[in-house]
Amino acid sequence: MPKDRPELPPVEELLTAAVTAVGGVERPGQVKMAQAVRDAVESEEHLAVQAGTGTGKSLAYLVPAIRHAAESGEAVVVSTATIALQRQLVDRDLPRLADALESLLPHRPEFAILKGRRNYLCRHKMADGMPEDEDDQLFDPREVSATGRMVQRIQEWANETETGDRDEIVPGVSDQAWRQFSVTARECLGVQRCPSGADCFAELARERAGEADIVVTNHALLAIDAMEDFAVLPEHDVVVVDEAHELVDRVTSVVTGELSESTVSLAARRAGRLIEQGVADRLQEAGEDLRALLTVAPPGRVDTLPGSLGMTLALVRDAAFACITALGPRNKDKDDPENAGLRKAAFTALDEVHDTAQRMLDAFGPAAGGDEAEDDAEDTGDSRDSERGANGGGTGDARSEEVHRAEVVWLEEGRGRVPPALRVAPLSVGGMLRDKLFGDRTVVLTSATLALGGSFDSLARQWGLPAGDWTGLDVGSPFDHPRRGILYVATHLPQPGRDGLPEAYVDEIAELIEAAGGRTLGLFSSMRAAKAATEALRERLDVPLLCQGDDSTSQLVKQFAGDPATCLFGTLSLWQGVDVPGPSLTLVIIDRIPFPRPDDPLASARQRHVAATGGNGFMAVAATHAALLLAQGAGRLLRSMDDRGVVAVLDPRLATARYSGFLLNSLPPFWRTTDPAKVRDALRRLTAGS
Ligand code: SF4
Repeated sequence: MPKDRPELPPVEELLTAAVTAVGGVERPGQVKMAQAVRDAVESEEHLAVQAGTGTGKSLAYLVPAIRHAAESGEAVVVSTATIALQRQLVDRDLPRLADALESLLPHRPEFAILKGRRNYLCRHKMADGMPEDEDDQLFDPREVSATGRMVQRIQEWANETETGDRDEIVPGVSDQAWRQFSVTARECLGVQRCPSGADCFAELARERAGEADIVVTNHALLAIDAMEDFAVLPEHDVVVVDEAHELVDRVTSVVTGELSESTVSLAARRAGRLIEQGVADRLQEAGEDLRALLTVAPPGRVDTLPGSLGMTLALVRDAAFACITALGPRNKDKDDPENAGLRKAAFTALDEVHDTAQRMLDAFGPAAGGDEAEDDAEDTGDSRDSERGANGGGTGDARSEEVHRAEVVWLEEGRGRVPPALRVAPLSVGGMLRDKLFGDRTVVLTSATLALGGSFDSLARQWGLPAGDWTGLDVGSPFDHPRRGILYVATHLPQPGRDGLPEAYVDEIAELIEAAGGRTLGLFSSMRAAKAATEALRERLDVPLLCQGDDSTSQLVKQFAGDPATCLFGTLSLWQGVDVPGPSLTLVIIDRIPFPRPDDPLASARQRHVAATGGNGFMAVAATHAALLLAQGAGRLLRSMDDRGVVAVLDPRLATARYSGFLLNSLPPFWRTTDPAKVRDALRRLTAGS
């Protein structure tokens, strides 16, 4: 890329050329967004920009991004939450843009996609056949044959692939099968020492990214690049975070630690190949103790560290440390190239176990993290605040503990052959993002849904955006929401209860679907409710009714889009992932306000923490979460300029509760009603007219 700054056409001219080339129509919101992105890049001020469906937002940020890359010689990183958007950018938008802008820029814009190392086939692991270290799940004959078939498919694909990118394998393969052909960044031998380094797929992807103007990646790798001391992404001074409403969840996943019998036993098996067996056995036994303890403990948040758990965590930590010590110096690999891969894999697993156990102990304060497990038990063996409510009631001591708490630990129940697992995650990733992501780059955050309750503040706080260092912009939507859509709240229905879907809800759904002649996307807050509704309505309605889980979600959405009479019911992934323009989707039904479950450990801990620090925990966490999902769900209705329809929310609290204003202000400005007869008439008219 050129290093001296060339004179380039203005963003507006480039955008016009791009829009003309792709056969689109330039929209005021798109131009406004492109100008705002250009201004943010020039002024080095962070920007949060909400751009409704149909704005053409990817072009609105890609054009100024490409211009900046051509002018500065620095790459611009574009991060997405989903593979679908990544593919849209790399397979559709960027190639068209490169064609359209080539003649207006000093060189043809180059782009590349870069993912984390574990997404690429590791040639060394494949060639050298590093011993498999899978756990006992493989002894289940059904698992063995299913995994075996996938392994065979990977091997066949490996002979042909040019990128080594796991996402090329269709249908996808399980993590268990893929792990046998991939390494994490920590397990990688390093390109200099690896015998396959010259042909390494991950290294080739990095090389391509190093020469690109636009590097497309995902939120996880963006977070890793920001957190690690070494660079994972090529040097860049501007980041565009698309699907920014997902950023906090994705970053939280990256920094969530897990400890279970499986993770401990994996580390012990890897160590056992290289050190005295007795030392590795002690770690294995500590893992078994952990399983025994976790199996009888109640799942959910762990507020105070029981003495027995403190002791077991310390035992696991110390046994892992003994294995690390027994492995000897880390740089010993030089003299032992044959075992370099095995040693690296063992160190990685042992470090993970040791550090996670220590992190869990630290989450309960310095006493719990001490060296002597027995002391920990004495210091922390009570459960004085276990009865506090999620909003931070309880003693002054407990409140002050809550204020200082930085991480939350919880227990996930075991399922089938998967043992129970202890997890640890930060209460907030805002501080980390502020220091590591927003510190020395300009960041543009965008999505169709960022302004909650009419303001960007809720998400800006979660992202840790420094106050006064960013601007927010809502460029609106090209859709005429009040004329094209109705928001119906069924205020005559009872509030949703804990005992499944009320009968009155089933009746209401049946009447709405009959009026719409099918054409319904049912978004439920739980899989249980989606299944209950499907079962009850299949008997009553004579339209085809699909339920998530009947087939792959993409196959179900295809079927739903292909036949207007068909209805599709489901839960979380449908709230955000369905894009069906046209008459097949005329009615979106939402059964209840999607608050986080009361037993969601992270959400309840975050809520309690906000309350303990003087804020409104419910509004900052639960209402914000619900507003985001509601807006995403309602956003499924209008996907093209010709679409019309109804969003029906059965939960009356959306019109009556004290927080309803905040939620309603987060939704598109549909025409609103609470009259069921009016809505059914409107649906009948719409159906007759299409
Ligand atoms: S450099 Fe790392 S990822 Fe690449 S082939 Fe070698 S071990 Fe595998």
